[in-house]
Amino acid sequence: MKKLALHWKIMLGMLAGVVFGAIFTQFEGGSKLIIDWIKPFGTIFINSLKLIAMPLILGSLIKGVSDLKDISKLSKMGGRTIGLYLITTVLAVTIGLVLVNLISPGSSIKEETRKELMLAYEDNANAKMAVAAEQKDSGPLQALVDLVPSNIFSATTNNQNMLQVIFFAIFFGIGMILLPEKKSNPVKLFFDSFNEVILKLIDLIMLVAPFGVFALLAALVVESPSLDLFQALGMYAFTLLLGLAIMIGIYILLVKVFAKKSPIFFMRGISPAQLLAFSTSSSAATLPVTLERVEEHLGVDEEVASFVLPIGATINMDGTSVYQAVAAVFIAQTFGMDLTLSAQLGIILTATLASIGTAAVPGAGIVMLVIVLAQAGIPEVGLALIFAIDRPLDMCRTVTNVTGDAAVSMLVAKSFGKLKDEPKPKNWDDNYPKI
Ligand code: ASP
Repeated sequence: MKKLALHWKIMLGMLAGVVFGAIFTQFEGGSKLIIDWIKPFGTIFINSLKLIAMPLILGSLIKGVSDLKDISKLSKMGGRTIGLYLITTVLAVTIGLVLVNLISPGSSIKEETRKELMLAYEDNANAKMAVAAEQKDSGPLQALVDLVPSNIFSATTNNQNMLQVIFFAIFFGIGMILLPEKKSNPVKLFFDSFNEVILKLIDLIMLVAPFGVFALLAALVVESPSLDLFQALGMYAFTLLLGLAIMIGIYILLVKVFAKKSPIFFMRGISPAQLLAFSTSSSAATLPVTLERVEEHLGVDEEVASFVLPIGATINMDGTSVYQAVAAVFIAQTFGMDLTLSAQLGIILTATLASIGTAAVPGAGIVMLVIVLAQAGIPEVGLALIFAIDRPLDMCRTVTNVTGDAAVSMLVAKSFGKLKDEPKPKNWDDNYPKI
């Protein structure tokens, strides 16, 4: 039998998970059964991906930077990467703002629905506000201070510290570039082979991906809120989803125009990473797969991918940016507030910074949203309004986050002449590792 491509297997796993979850919610005790016996496998799957994320960032960035061989190439690549990330982020916030103003989803919310939602989700909103308060109480340069770890070993023990590890890896790579090759070579060989081992581990984890997403989605279905809430917040969800889809359309266009690759080539290449982003709601957990897809299926040279993607997974979140703009204005609309142009421009700035500061994990965006709301003078308790359907929307914005990183890596690769014409798939789809 011809082997099914990975994205089809993952899709089948997702579908089976949804059907399974939907059937089990019909029985008494069915939900508990799924939570006790199926959900843990989903958690193990996400954990195993996250387990790989930190060593992968460390290994691939050190390798990526040291492969560049000179500082001027590094600063050129760094400049282009950050520049493109910033442009797409600002574009994303702007698209979000335009859509939410045009569609005005907040005005379709009935007064009683608003009260119900506020009452039901007040506690959750308060909990997120407390987390955000800790981040807000710091000075303007705190983000810069947080970038430099005082101890690299403790930094690598917390997945929230990705930016610190990125800083260390780039710093370490620069040290390697500055040394004569003879001296740095043993360390380089070590990291090259360390990287290979990590990539092999990703192959192994991906063998069980269809089962992992099955478990994740089955659990999600039994834990999801009632359909009525979706209806009440339908226009808000529609506005956000439209913004996310437009962003994906823009990536496809950029890849077509600048990287000269067809939409089908791009979407087929990146789809397993998108499906995983959807199932895990975490760019960081998806990073191992994004890297492998981009290198082996989209033709981005390892040198570029291993530099651009770990940084992107951490700081480039276009889906989260669209979301912050749409959610902030939606909440303002439901409270009957009219936001001035300068308040909306302020949202562009804070939402851009907030999406950079957002951790690449589920639900991180809603914490940073508190900061955007506070800056724009929108009541923070309004968070309660969107809480109910935040998880499914988080899944969708994570897809956009990951797709944006992949597109930018292709553009950067193209600009350095490092985009291969015919990438040869080495791994999953046609050559599963034999165990
Ligand atoms: N879950 C998103 C991500 O990992 C972040 C967010 O909550 O918007 O990309």
